[in-house]
Amino acid sequence: MKNIVLLGSTGSIGRSAADVIARHADRFRAFGLVARTSWRELAAQAERLRPRYCALTDEAAWREARSAMPAGTELLCGLDGVKEIIARAEVEVVLAGITGAAGLPTSLHAVECGKTLALANKESLVMAGCVIMRLAASRGVAILPVDSEHSAIFQCLRSGRAAEVRKLILTASGGPFLNRSAAEIAAATPDQALKHPTWNMGAKITIDSATLFNKALEVIEARWLFGVDVDRIQVVVHPQSIIHSMVEFIDGSTIAQLGRPDMKVPIQLALSYPERLEGAAEPYRFDEPRTFTFSPPDLVRFPGLRLGFEAARAGGTAGAVLNAANEVAVERFLKREIPFPRIAAVVEEVLGRHTLIPTPDVPAILDADRWAREETARCLPR
Ligand code: MG
Repeated sequence: MKNIVLLGSTGSIGRSAADVIARHADRFRAFGLVARTSWRELAAQAERLRPRYCALTDEAAWREARSAMPAGTELLCGLDGVKEIIARAEVEVVLAGITGAAGLPTSLHAVECGKTLALANKESLVMAGCVIMRLAASRGVAILPVDSEHSAIFQCLRSGRAAEVRKLILTASGGPFLNRSAAEIAAATPDQALKHPTWNMGAKITIDSATLFNKALEVIEARWLFGVDVDRIQVVVHPQSIIHSMVEFIDGSTIAQLGRPDMKVPIQLALSYPERLEGAAEPYRFDEPRTFTFSPPDLVRFPGLRLGFEAARAGGTAGAVLNAANEVAVERFLKREIPFPRIAAVVEEVLGRHTLIPTPDVPAILDADRWAREETARCLPR
């Protein structure tokens, strides 16, 4: 029985993970469920999964929820409460399903406590990849990717040795504006940007798919997670989202991982690894003629991806700055306060003004994050 803590339990990843745990109740136990404010949904999940602990990081939500938990589930409050749950000896796997920079402290804590980290929070590696990977290596902690592209690469890498890998090929759906002109993209509204053609995800990541900042973050994530040079990471647009990513080996062989776009597959694999369990999703069927297409990404219409490669190459605090500036800009775009192209433009401005720290520690990373948020707010209309 694997004891699992779900961080971001009521979000898109957390809900799918709860289904995976419920389906394999003989293998997995939800030991802890953590959310920020959605206490009603958390209480409903607790009713269904009967965790030992729940936690709400928002104090007002915690106060509301105190009488709503089922018997046998203890409700803790705030980041300290979450850290207490993660540190418990019974916990084996922590699934980091929180969106954004807010996920970093708990990812770090999980690795510090020696827990296997099933990582959907790509920002942890984008911001602090150098620190987390070093810490994980020193503690002998496994970081198992939940991001579908990285899960695909993780699976493909098992076909050869590290020294035999030539290239990691990340696929990108291209998002809703793949075939739109620059003028159409410039006029894009939040409603248009929130209509993702193949994946059903949270609002922030869906906007990031439209700007290709999601792929930018994934390039940086891959660079740290797999320890490869940025120049050996390629992005290819594959709008069907069936091939989730590929690895090219030195002999000219390329291994791909395929499946329907369903996050339950990478979530379940990260929880069950090194085993595979049945039934995460229906397999992709090849009995109908279908066309798979591939094209290079357009870095002019989608400057966010160019900035991602530049930040990955720069290393240090560049990832934290790119991520923070993008988070602030996406929030403003969703409130209809800035036009769509301003997101990438302001990220570029802020990156340009940043004084890079090449090998930062955690406080320096958090400083860079804070500075970038203030700087972005300063650049945008009030
Ligand atoms: Mg992804």
